[in-house]
Amino acid sequence: MKNSEESDSYIIHGKLALPYTYFAGRTGSTFLTTLRDQRIIMGVKCTACNRVFVPPRQTCERCMADIRSQWVTVESQGKVVNHTVIRYQDKHLPRKPPFVLAMILLNGADTPMTHILEGVNPDRVVKGMEVAAVFSPATTNTLLDIDHFEPVAEPP
Ligand SMILES: [Zn+2]
Repeated sequence: MKNSEESDSYIIHGKLALPYTYFAGRTGSTFLTTLRDQRIIMGVKCTACNRVFVPPRQTCERCMADIRSQWVTVESQGKVVNHTVIRYQDKHLPRKPPFVLAMILLNGADTPMTHILEGVNPDRVVKGMEVAAVFSPATTNTLLDIDHFEPVAEPP
């Protein structure tokens, strides 16, 4: 049975595509401009908890310490800790389906970042798979200056 909101009105499913800008913040700006200009991935370290956050954040999620000035460089290589396969097409997605979005724990980081994983059949992605960043040849001024990640070695 339909609830009262649906019984007397149409529900229209749609999508909006709106151009937008947003301020990346001081921490996000340093992360993005360092990625763009130096092709290195930086995080911030909470010296109280000894945890490195990538992408960086201004405040430690555990102890609430202000960590925005505690920059550290992490490796552009790491391990897959989780992943999903995108199987639907949408013009706003960065790739045509199917493609893999993986949570990648970079060496030197304690929190995973999410990014596109290519160079492996989606059905063969496994936890612990070693992957490395492939940087975009031209800057996008976004996180997509890392174009994608790919396995370091051929999967077995
Ligand atoms: Zn902390």
